[in-house]
Amino acid sequence: MAFYDIIVIGGGPAGLSAVLRADKSGKKTLLIEREGRLGGILKQCIHDGFGVIRFGEKLSGPEYAERFTALLKSSNVQVSLWSFVTDIQHKAEDGFTVTYLCRDGVKQAQCKKIILATGCRERTRNQIFVQGDRGAGVFTAGTAQNLVNLEGVMPGRKCVILGSGDIGLIMARRLTLEGATVEGVYEAKSTPSGLPRNIHQCLEDFNIPLHLSTTVTRVLGDRRVEAVEICQVDKQMRPVKGTEKIVDCDCLILAVGLIPENEIATALGVQLDKRTKGPLVDQNLETMRTGIFCCGNALHVNDLVDYVSESGETAADGSCSERSGRCLIDIVADKAFSYNVPQKININDRRDKTILYFRSADIVTDKKVAVYIDGNCVFSKKFLHLSPPEMQRITVDLSSATSRKSRIELRMED
Ligand SMILES: Cc1cc2nc3c(=O)[nH]c(=O)nc-3n(C[C@H](O)[C@H](O)[C@H](O)COP(=O)(O)OP(=O)(O)OC[C@H]3O[C@@H](n4cnc5c(N)ncnc54)[C@H](O)[C@@H]3O)c2cc1C
Repeated sequence: MAFYDIIVIGGGPAGLSAVLRADKSGKKTLLIEREGRLGGILKQCIHDGFGVIRFGEKLSGPEYAERFTALLKSSNVQVSLWSFVTDIQHKAEDGFTVTYLCRDGVKQAQCKKIILATGCRERTRNQIFVQGDRGAGVFTAGTAQNLVNLEGVMPGRKCVILGSGDIGLIMARRLTLEGATVEGVYEAKSTPSGLPRNIHQCLEDFNIPLHLSTTVTRVLGDRRVEAVEICQVDKQMRPVKGTEKIVDCDCLILAVGLIPENEIATALGVQLDKRTKGPLVDQNLETMRTGIFCCGNALHVNDLVDYVSESGETAADGSCSERSGRCLIDIVADKAFSYNVPQKININDRRDKTILYFRSADIVTDKKVAVYIDGNCVFSKKFLHLSPPEMQRITVDLSSATSRKSRIELRMED
C-alpha cells in the first residue's frame, strides 16, 4: 500500500491550493478527485470575477483553476482522477487508511493527515418542499450552469428562478445571454441573498425583475413544467392567502442554498457546526478529530474563491506542522453574527495571526467588530456596511489567550 504524509480529498480550488502548499513544504501528497478534470466548480464558471484579491485580476473560473493546475506539473504531487473515496479507517499506529474507487479498481493508501476539500452541494426541490406536479424541467442552478456552459444544452426557454443567491443571479444573466427569457427571480426573504454586485450586473443590467418576499408554491405540468404558482410570504415566510399568481414557464431553476459536502467527515465522526453545516475547526482548520483538516466550501460556503484558496493553504500549513496535544477554547460570538470560522482556538499553537471569517446575522451599518480576551479588547474594526451575503475576513492576534479558562469573545458594537 502506498504511503503519503497527506491525502487531500477534492480537487477544486481548496484542494489544489492545499496540495501545492503541502508539496512545497516537502510533504509526500496525494490528491484524490472524483471527476476527470481538476478545478471543481470553477470548471463551469465561465464568467469573470475570480481572483481579484489574490491576483488583482478578474479571471474566469477555468483561468483561475489553471493558475494552480499549471503549478502541479512541476510539483511532486500525485493526482488520482476519476477516484471516489468510499471509506477511511483510522488506527493510532498506522494513521489513516483511505479506500477509493478508481479506473483501476479499488485502491488503498495510507497517510498521517487528511485534508477534506470536498466542496458543497445544492439544496434541491425536496429540501424546500415545493408542491405540485413532477414534470421535467426543474433544475438546481449548478446543474443548469453545467448544462449550458459545459454541455451546450439549454434547460428551458422561459425560465423562473427561485432564490436570489449568487448562482441564481449568474444563471439569470447566462440564460438571458443564451436567448432564454427569464420571467423573474423570486426570493422568499425580504432582502437578496446574493452579492450586491451580482444584483446590478446580472439582473438590473438585463431588466430581469427581482420579486422579494415571494416564493414558488407549486409546479404545474405533468410531463414538462408548464407554469409555476408564485405567492407572497409574510415575515415568518408563510404564504399569504389570496396573493397566488400563475407564471407561465417551461423551467424552474432552484438557487436555494448550498450545504457543505460532509459525508466523509460525518462518517469519520467529525463534529459539525449547526450554523455552518461544516466541521468545527481551530485556527489551523483542524477538525475536532486530530489529523483531519477541512477547507473551502466543505468547511463553510464561501462567496470568494480567493478565501477558498487561502483556507486550503491554512489547512496545509496546519497539517504539515507537528505539534503535541491540543488545548481548545471556544470563540464565543454574540447574536449579531450568523457564524464564525474558526470556532475554536488551540492555545498550544501559534495564534498571533489568526484569520477569522464571519458573516453578520442581519444587514447593519456603521458597526464595530471587536474581539475581547478576558474582557480586554485586542481587535476593533469599523464596518460601514455588513450583510449576511458578504463574508468578512479579519486577522487577529489571539496570543494573550493563554489558559484553558481564557474567554475569547467576538462582539458587534456601536
Ligand atoms: C456559480 C458560482 C459562481 C461563483 N462565482 C464566483 C465569483 O465570481 N468570484 C469568486 O471569487 N467566487 C465565486 N464563486 C465561489 C467559488 O468559486 C467557490 O466558493 C469555490 O470554487 C469552492 O471551492 P472548493 O474547492 O471548496 O469546492 P469545489 O470547487 O466544489 O471542489 C470540490 C471538489 O471535490 C470533489 N469531491 C467531492 N467529494 C469527493 C469525494 N468523495 N471523492 C473525491 N472527490 C470529491 C468534487 O468533484 C470537486 O472537484 C462562485 C461559485 C459558484 C458555484
